[in-house]
Amino acid sequence: MIGSGYFDGFGGRYVPEVLISALQKLDEEYRRLSPDPEFKQRLNTLLTTYVGRPTPLYFAHRLTDRVGGAKIFLKREDLAHTGSHKINNAVGQALLAKEMGRRRIIAETGAGQHGVAAATASALMGIECEIYMGEVDAERQKLNCYRMNLLGAKLNIVKSGSRTLKDSINEAMRDYASSSEYTHYLIGSVVGPHPYPTIVRDFQSVIGREAKSQMQQITGGLPSALVACVGGGSNSIGLFHPFLEDAEVKIFGVEAGGEGVTTGKHSASVVAGSNGVLHGAKTLLIQDFEGQVLETHSVAAGLDYPAVGPEHAFLNKTGRAKYVAIDDSGALSAFHLLSETEGIIPALESAHAIAFAVELASDMSSDESIIVNLSGRGDKDVDQVARLEGSI
Ligand SMILES: *Cc1c(COP(=O)(O)O)cnc(C)c1O
Repeated sequence: MIGSGYFDGFGGRYVPEVLISALQKLDEEYRRLSPDPEFKQRLNTLLTTYVGRPTPLYFAHRLTDRVGGAKIFLKREDLAHTGSHKINNAVGQALLAKEMGRRRIIAETGAGQHGVAAATASALMGIECEIYMGEVDAERQKLNCYRMNLLGAKLNIVKSGSRTLKDSINEAMRDYASSSEYTHYLIGSVVGPHPYPTIVRDFQSVIGREAKSQMQQITGGLPSALVACVGGGSNSIGLFHPFLEDAEVKIFGVEAGGEGVTTGKHSASVVAGSNGVLHGAKTLLIQDFEGQVLETHSVAAGLDYPAVGPEHAFLNKTGRAKYVAIDDSGALSAFHLLSETEGIIPALESAHAIAFAVELASDMSSDESIIVNLSGRGDKDVDQVARLEGSI
C-alpha cells in the first residue's frame, strides 16, 4: 500500500472513478490552505468568537471522590456552540469550502446531529446547504429535521434501499460526483475516502492540543490516560492525536456495546468487526461472512455507525490505543452518575466514555489522572432516557 492517505494499509480511496479527481482537488486545496497563516487566523477567530473555544478542562472532584482512584478531568466539548465537538469540524470545512470558492455544501446525516452541525456552519458562512437523510431516519428525528430547516438548509429525503444512513451516503456521493466544481461534501467524522480522515482529524485535534496545555497548567504534567467514545472516531482522534508520541499516556477508545457484543446488537466495529471497505475506505467494520454490512445498535444514536475511521483501525493494530466496549446499560448508569455527582448531563455517546473511565480510575492511584472527552451535552437525550425508564 504505497501512496498518501493510508494508515499502514487502512484508509485509501475506494470510490468510483468519477470521484477521484474531486478528491484529489480537495486534497491539494486543503494542503495549500491549511498551513496558510491567514486561513489559520480566520479559523482561530471563528473558534474563539463563534464556537466558544477554548473549552474548559474541568476537574470532576465529586465524581473522583465517589469512584476513588485516579483524578478524573473532563474536556468540556459539551460547552461548544450547538453542544458537541461536531462544530469544530463543520466550521473548519465550511471555511475551507468558502476559501475554495464553493457556493454549495452537501452532507449526509443519520441521527441528524451532523446535519445540524453542517447546516449551522453553512449559515455562518452564507453558503447554500443541502442535507441527505434517509426516510426512516427522518421519521425518527423530526426535531432535527426542523432544526436543519430553521437553519436554512434544504433536506433531501432518501427513499432508496433501507432508507437509512448508508443510502444517504450513496446519494451524497452521487451528488458530489456531478457537482464537485461548485459543491463541497462536508463529511462529519474521520471516515470516508482520503483526504477526509486527515482533514477531520486535523480540525478536531484542537481538542487534544488544548487539553494538553490545560493539563500542563493544572498539574504540571501529562495525564496518565485518555478516554473518549468512538462512533466514526472524530472526537476521540481529536483528543488522542496530540498525545500519540507521549508513550507514557495510555489511550482508550470506547465503543458502543449495545445490548452486549455477543448478542450481535452493538456498534463495536473495532472490538467485534473485521477488515473491509465502507464509505470509500479500507477499515474495520461490522459485516457478515459475505461482506454485507450488518445493522448496528446503540442507545446513543451518534455511535450507531457500522465502521470506524481508518486511523483507529491502525492505532488498534499497532496497540498504541486500546478499544473496549461499554453496553447500553453501562452508559445509562453513567448518564445518571455524572448528572448527580457533577450537575452535568452528558450526551449518551459521552456517557460510554464516562462509564469506562470510572472502571479505569478505580484501578488507578490517586496521584494518576485521566482526561475524558465529554463530547456532547445530554439535553438531546433526556426525552429518550425518560421514556426508556418509563418516567414520562
Ligand atoms: C456524533 C457524536 C459522537 C460520535 O462521533 P465521533 O466521530 O466518533 O466523535 C460522539 N459524541 C457526540 C456528542 C456526538 O454528537
